[in-house]
Amino acid sequence: MNDAPNPSLIPILIAPHPVLKRPARKVLSADADLVRELIPQMFAAMYDAPGIGLAAPQVGHSLRMAVIDLTRDDVRDPLVLINPEIIARSTDMATREEGCLSLPRQFADVTRPAKVKVRYEDAQGIKREIEADELLATCLQHEIDHLDGILFVDHISALKRNILMRKLAKEMRAKGT
Ligand SMILES: [Zn+2]
Repeated sequence: MNDAPNPSLIPILIAPHPVLKRPARKVLSADADLVRELIPQMFAAMYDAPGIGLAAPQVGHSLRMAVIDLTRDDVRDPLVLINPEIIARSTDMATREEGCLSLPRQFADVTRPAKVKVRYEDAQGIKREIEADELLATCLQHEIDHLDGILFVDHISALKRNILMRKLAKEMRAKGT
């Protein structure tokens, strides 16, 4: 995590922020120019953070789009999701520790369906489907949650959530941000 924000990067909103709690609207063909501009900006901010997923509301755009890249090494594997929706979920569940670029340095175990099938449009507007398990399944559900104004802390107990949000607020104050 870089301490000094890079001014050339689009800033990532930190919770609590009203845009993070707002359901995002569908991306329309009229949004094409904005989407083309946002995709590289979102990847740049995500790689810099560094993170493995970033949803448009996290950079202040209440639009149903997100980017994901699970590779942590040299070879990048960018995935652009426009208007993603979960069309199938497994009944078996999996618990994984999650974090979020909008809640820096905060982590909690979240239980979600172990496998999901997601329908989305890619950066070229082509309709696609992806079946995912393991980390990608978690990441897809986490990013699609962002588009509905849901954060990973909304899946944990109110007690744990309050502790974590207070810790985040204290850390952000200490950083002077
Ligand atoms: Zn997140």
